[in-house]
Amino acid sequence: MKYVSTRGNAPAQSFSQILLGGLAPDGGLYLPDVYPHFSDADLEAMRGMSYPDLAFTVLSRFADDIPADDLRALVNKTYTPAVYGYGRPDSDYSQITPIRTLEPGLHILELSNGPTLAFKDMAMQLLGNLFEYALNKAGRDINILGATSGDTGSAAEYAMRGKKNVKVFMLSPKEGMTRFQQAQMYSLQDANIHNLVIRGVFDDCQDMVKAVSNDLEYKEKYRIGAVNSINWARVSAQVVYYFKAYFAVTKTNKDKVSFSVPSGNFGNVCAGHIAKQMGLPVDKLIVATNENDVLDEFFRTGVYRPRGSAQTYHTSSPSMDISKASNFERFIADVTARNYAQVAELWSAVDKGQSFDLKAAGLMDKVAAYGMVSGKSTHADRMETIRDVWERYGVMVDPHTADGIKVGMEHREPGTPLVCLETALPAKFEDAIEESLGCKPERPAVLENLEALPQRFEVLDVNVQAIKDLIARHAND
Ligand SMILES: *Cc1c(COP(=O)(O)O)cnc(C)c1O
Repeated sequence: MKYVSTRGNAPAQSFSQILLGGLAPDGGLYLPDVYPHFSDADLEAMRGMSYPDLAFTVLSRFADDIPADDLRALVNKTYTPAVYGYGRPDSDYSQITPIRTLEPGLHILELSNGPTLAFKDMAMQLLGNLFEYALNKAGRDINILGATSGDTGSAAEYAMRGKKNVKVFMLSPKEGMTRFQQAQMYSLQDANIHNLVIRGVFDDCQDMVKAVSNDLEYKEKYRIGAVNSINWARVSAQVVYYFKAYFAVTKTNKDKVSFSVPSGNFGNVCAGHIAKQMGLPVDKLIVATNENDVLDEFFRTGVYRPRGSAQTYHTSSPSMDISKASNFERFIADVTARNYAQVAELWSAVDKGQSFDLKAAGLMDKVAAYGMVSGKSTHADRMETIRDVWERYGVMVDPHTADGIKVGMEHREPGTPLVCLETALPAKFEDAIEESLGCKPERPAVLENLEALPQRFEVLDVNVQAIKDLIARHAND
């Protein structure tokens, strides 16, 4: 399998070569030059497989330069009920990513029973084990630098904690995360995890990460790496649960299924698109946004108009407060039928802060042909949806999942099962649940005293040099 850049101007690479890197050297994102394909017979054989078996079957197509026995061991170590079974107390512990049926034809895919109670654990835990494996093999180490507004940072830290050749330096804003999210990250006592609390907002954190990464000499000297959502291994690991859900809600491979996906950086729904391209009988992929509706605007009008951080709203589904969807470039590469020069041209406008218009370019028929549709959910919508799902089905959903359900219902069609992806558990967003339902969400017993645990973090000003100095002091610990 060869990986090429969406902008067409970078050397082709193998899975292992792009595993530890970020953007391609031409500024694009890597993706397979051709998607692997599962035949009807393949799909028949995959129906009924356990999660680890499915993960191995899908991932071995992408990670074809990792010896099969090694990949199998990595997958088996990652996808265990012990890692993915302690989320919701009443979930089926024996099964990874169980389906919860609300009514015939309407389902929730539980993706948030991992250690940080958000779907990011599904891919990040595998990434931790893949990094450890690759670094051991290469005899090197890595210092992961990241910025988080909540879920990514904790998923990364729980995936990398205690790993020998990995250190994590995670910047988080002093304000903006929930108490639960803060406690989750800052209570980690592992020596290789560094929580850097910044006297600023999330965008300050992200700008500092960019500033450090743009210093190529420093980046090389201190072996700086990333685990952000453009990482191909993360996207490919997310493809797996679309297969798992499809088989769980259908009887034969002639049936089609639609998925509704709460979206921010477009990584999760991009994985659904890839699953469909690999032969999974997916009908619609429903892109749900919150008030930050740059993606919904694109699917409605053909105009992609990313906004600056100053125009990003802070909402009650904060993990979707994103106005520039990095993984979107991978989807558009397919929409242009892999016209990489065209993608490079479109994103040269985006990188200058401009927009592009695919309706004017005559490409919206292609977008529709891929089955992508969209919708937007507001604070009032998610409050009402949380209440409605609770009253009607006795199921408590988090604000992000509620956005997905709200928009999913707008596109639901009789006869086609609708699977709404659960992206976090309500326990992470207590205030929003309390506002909607007037009671606190349930929480897994192991996390009962989370906020009372001792916390470990350093508080820093918005100062790039201070971050660089701190990493330099610890990089060789
Ligand atoms: C990250 C996240 C999202 C958005 O996922 P993308 O892959 O960035 O589109 C949605 N909901 C929750 C809870 C998240 O943590």
